[in-house]
Amino acid sequence: MKSVISMLAAAGVVAAALAAPAIAADKGYVGIAMPTKGLDRWNKDGASMVQQFEEAGYKTDLQYAENEIPAQLSQVENMITKGVDVLVIAAIDGGSMTAPLANAAAAGIPVIAYDRLILNTPNVDYYATFDNFQVGVIQGNSLVEGLKSRFPDVHPWNVELFGGSPDDNNAYFFYNGAMSVIQPLIDSGDIVVPSGQMGMDKIGTLNWSNAAAQARMDNLLSAYYTQEPLHGVYASNDDLAMGAISSLRSLGYGSGDMPMPIITGQDSNLPNVKAIIEGLQYSSIFKDTRKLAEVTVDMVEAISEGKEPEINDTSTYDNGEKVVPSYLLEPVAVTQDNWKQILVDDSGYYTMQQIEE
Ligand code: BGC
Repeated sequence: MKSVISMLAAAGVVAAALAAPAIAADKGYVGIAMPTKGLDRWNKDGASMVQQFEEAGYKTDLQYAENEIPAQLSQVENMITKGVDVLVIAAIDGGSMTAPLANAAAAGIPVIAYDRLILNTPNVDYYATFDNFQVGVIQGNSLVEGLKSRFPDVHPWNVELFGGSPDDNNAYFFYNGAMSVIQPLIDSGDIVVPSGQMGMDKIGTLNWSNAAAQARMDNLLSAYYTQEPLHGVYASNDDLAMGAISSLRSLGYGSGDMPMPIITGQDSNLPNVKAIIEGLQYSSIFKDTRKLAEVTVDMVEAISEGKEPEINDTSTYDNGEKVVPSYLLEPVAVTQDNWKQILVDDSGYYTMQQIEE
């Protein structure tokens, strides 16, 4: 009996099918603009989207811009010229997209803001992200929980704050969420910020730069911590946490009678998970980038079928021109107590081998 493949081969179908990806990419062409390969999460976001879009029958064009705004703008312009059917953009600078997105709108291309809101343009249709304020709340709670457990007899706790990039709308949500927990403790005198550096204008870190965070921590330690120890660091993501950790370790924290401060983070980057296991970083946040990719693919599917994508928030994300209909995923806290459960056993985000090597 002839196999299905050979019958198809006879009909000339197999050669075409073998030449093409597993499923013919004929449902549309998706342009995906990501900020940088420098932070592992964006590599995971990009890879998950390409895989899921291709499985669903779409062709993709994935581009990274190494945190350079002009490069990202020209990538998006090129995607429009190449004739993509939809754009998925994690903007480096949320306020810089107005001109390319006017061109996208003129060409009838719908736009999904991915993870970061795109600001000051009416030409953004949907927003797929995590609950960014909640990320900050979890970070703030975990900082306080850590301070209580590592420094139960200290009063007040000395804490310094490291915020994200001021051109990233998320940075404000993370900071405001965290401060909704930390500020009341500053008001009650339980926490002090010896440098007095507070507010995103003072504690923002351009491009979420690890090196800038390390340099700022060096300066803080030599200016404010020669007589008294630092107990806590609100670091808005894992890159900033790593910068702070490098600085602190070079000054002797984490050895002898100088315990590491409680340090927060976000993204559950592999080096940071290892730092959590070693006790150098107290916590991170798990944002399952595969789920964010899934939400985005579902949005594109709905748009291409002429349906309304599923959204669960219509009031939070005002981009200055409109409130962008959003789908928010839930972030999860990761600590020494639960990393294996959350990152390995339940989600398979990492294998034990990755963690151990
Ligand atoms: C993302 C974070 C990430 C940061 C730096 C933010 O917009 O939400 O997950 O750590 O950018 O790339």
